[in-house]
Amino acid sequence: MRLGIISALQEEQLGLVEAMERRYKLIHGMREYTAGQLWEIDAVCVLSRIGKVAAAMTATTLVEKFGVTHILFTGVAGAGDKTVGVGDIVVAEALVQHDMDASPLFPRFEVPLTGRTHFQPDPSFSLRLSRAAHDFLELDFLDAVNETERRAFRLLQPRVHRGLVASGDQFMNDPARLEGLNAALPGLVAVEMEGAAVAQVCHELGIPCAVIRTISDNANENAAIDFMRFVKSVAAQYAFYVTRRLCRDLNTAPLVQVGPG
Ligand code: SAH
Repeated sequence: MRLGIISALQEEQLGLVEAMERRYKLIHGMREYTAGQLWEIDAVCVLSRIGKVAAAMTATTLVEKFGVTHILFTGVAGAGDKTVGVGDIVVAEALVQHDMDASPLFPRFEVPLTGRTHFQPDPSFSLRLSRAAHDFLELDFLDAVNETERRAFRLLQPRVHRGLVASGDQFMNDPARLEGLNAALPGLVAVEMEGAAVAQVCHELGIPCAVIRTISDNANENAAIDFMRFVKSVAAQYAFYVTRRLCRDLNTAPLVQVGPG
């Protein structure tokens, strides 16, 4: 197995690159890829930058040039529903490109000529990831995020949600628009800007993927307030600890690849 790990922003991946052993850097297509061993797992870490095209290009390169066999996307997202709160974790069960609309030629959200609106991440990979997330919250959370930050962001009892993640080239900070999306997309738990693009690339290339997001904001008018502080002091910790748990778990029991690809 060779695991590709993508984040959009540098702060979402803080600590992971430093944790890599025998690492070396390669520049390709205006991005820096760091290859090495991450808790005994052969891995390549990269920042995609923001948006669907950037994420698709990065995922494709990881597969075609760096030979990764699995892709993990880790980052932050806005809450897609009122039951999801800041500091919660979302593991995607399906992903949709919410700004895709070629109607009336194709149904809204359908990626033309693929016959699909939703792209599925790998079920067993996602299950292992959500277990790592649960264990993180139960066992590491208090050590990982200091009290000042827990108070500042009112992180009381963070939870893990599994559900639909919607991606689009738009920072969502308008409650009315979110409400509309939520009504059109049952089971929506998070909104972000990359996951569904990665999921489409992985679907087309037959690469198992998983997407995990720490909720940084409620996708409303307050979304940009303290965004960077949250990403640095909270989300980076989540990503580090959850990825460590995942890698250690993958070491003891490798993922079995089923089906073609
Ligand atoms: N304010 C930031 C911009 C971040 S864009 C800056 O100045 O750099 C938001 C990034 O976080 C994207 O990578 C996206 O995937 C995720 N994200 C977090 N909250 C989001 C929201 N409410 N809507 C869309 N994307 C969001």
